[in-house]
Amino acid sequence: MTELLPNHLGGRWTAGTGAGMPLFDPVLGDELVRVDATGLDLPGGFAFARQQGGAALRTMSYAQRAALLGAVGKVLQAHRDAYYAIATANSGTVKNDSGVDIDGAIYTLGTYAKLGAALGERRFLLDGESASLAKDAAFQSQHVQVPTRGLALFINAFNFPAWGLWEKAAPALLAGVPVVVKPATATAWLTQRMVKDVVDAGVLPAGALSIVCGSSAGLLDALQPFDVLSFTGSADTAATLRRHAAVAERSVRVNIEADSINAALLLEGEAPGSAAFELLVKEVVREMTVKSGQKCTAIRRVFVPQALYGQVAEAVSARLARTTVGNPRNESVRMGALVSRAQLAAVREGLEFLKAQAEVLHDGATHALVDADPAVACCVGPTLLGAHDADGAHRVHATEVFGPVATLVPYRDAAHALALVRRGEGSLVASLYGSDDAQLATAALELADSHGRVHVINPAAAAVHSGHGNVMPQSLHGGPGRAGGGEELGGLRALNFYHRRAAIQAAPGVLSALG
Ligand code: NAP
Repeated sequence: MTELLPNHLGGRWTAGTGAGMPLFDPVLGDELVRVDATGLDLPGGFAFARQQGGAALRTMSYAQRAALLGAVGKVLQAHRDAYYAIATANSGTVKNDSGVDIDGAIYTLGTYAKLGAALGERRFLLDGESASLAKDAAFQSQHVQVPTRGLALFINAFNFPAWGLWEKAAPALLAGVPVVVKPATATAWLTQRMVKDVVDAGVLPAGALSIVCGSSAGLLDALQPFDVLSFTGSADTAATLRRHAAVAERSVRVNIEADSINAALLLEGEAPGSAAFELLVKEVVREMTVKSGQKCTAIRRVFVPQALYGQVAEAVSARLARTTVGNPRNESVRMGALVSRAQLAAVREGLEFLKAQAEVLHDGATHALVDADPAVACCVGPTLLGAHDADGAHRVHATEVFGPVATLVPYRDAAHALALVRRGEGSLVASLYGSDDAQLATAALELADSHGRVHVINPAAAAVHSGHGNVMPQSLHGGPGRAGGGEELGGLRALNFYHRRAAIQAAPGVLSALG
């Protein structure tokens, strides 16, 4: 029997009373550890988080809580090697891809520690200027933001077990709100180990950070009106959560990050081999292969002028062909595994679904696996599809295959291109490639209403841009429509979700006394 990972709830470590669900190595097929949440006292544990963790955090200023984030970052930094080992074993990722998750988490914590330190010793935030409600400003309205007195429940996806926790926990803890995380089962080990290290180090108040691994049963039932729920995962699960009484009847505030059919667009007027052309090709290949395409922000659709369809197909395919796929422990491997056999099956099924409306430009099946047994390993080569019928290939605009798969789509003119990008019905990110700044700016604003982020690349940004799929804590993460309608990060904007806004109406003397 492998080790059963304990949960941390109510200020103590508790093992589930069931047999547990096994977590596997997606390359070697070995069982690694087990998780189980059977028999936990969720209402009691949640009450402890609110009453002990929340109360302790709220006695501190933003600067003091920012210092806690700094301390958490140091603990994680000290155990970084162990996290890389877990990521290799449980996520099947190559070192660079593990870094996106692990170092991305540490960087995000550090960023919020800095932002929080700048907020200083205050314990609430003023929201805008006061507005007069009477003659001579003798009675005024001042909006304030105060930390919610509930807890923040995170239900996370499998693809970012490290960053997925800390990109949410950093703003929550900075806001003074205790955290309960329920990681996706397939990769819960890394999240559990990070929480264990931080709890064992004693850098956070008791009840500030809890973890429940395994089944999600009962979690939402234990939520109360001032709690908040942040979910990352599939649109189907998101729909179930939105219908739950906690959300529908108890008004638990909810943030959803779901599927997204992100786009990359090469603007008109760029010659084959031009800087913009090459930047698009490089980024498409990178996005298809980093974390084997298991990124919510990965490029799924690539829009190019009709005349360039063949040349882009050739350039992307040539680079994809050089991608070595297989066991991440082998130094020559550039792309590791999908997370599970279930994901491998889902990617294969999704590919077949798209192929009914698209041709295969580069076939992932032609990649021989390095150091990995195809009967066991959840590895798959990258596949580039092409859809000549841009308008008719509706599956391409509506299907997220969560793996190393993208579809090239030709467009007639700028208006057609923008209309096609919008067929994603709301995405996390679109990236634009061109050399005409005015044309790029116009397209960026045209797409801003349907995208959480528009990543604009001209030759001046070539060497310094942060990447289409990289979520930076300074910028908004989330998107309207299909992407779930959520908003995360964006610097201090992230604190809004964990605060309650109230208007205090009073005479100026009282407002000055607020501090
Ligand atoms: P999923 O099946 O929806 O699972 C996500 C999380 O929800 C897991 O922790 C899962 O637990 C839990 N869950 C499942 N059913 C639940 C229920 N009825 N009540 C409460 N929780 C429940 O999604 P996934 O397949 O792991 O993740 C892949 C999807 O996530 C992709 O579609 C991707 O686009 C999306 N994603 C979006 C973002 C973003 O930021 N927008 C980021 C990453 C991924 P178990 O693991 O225990 O089932």
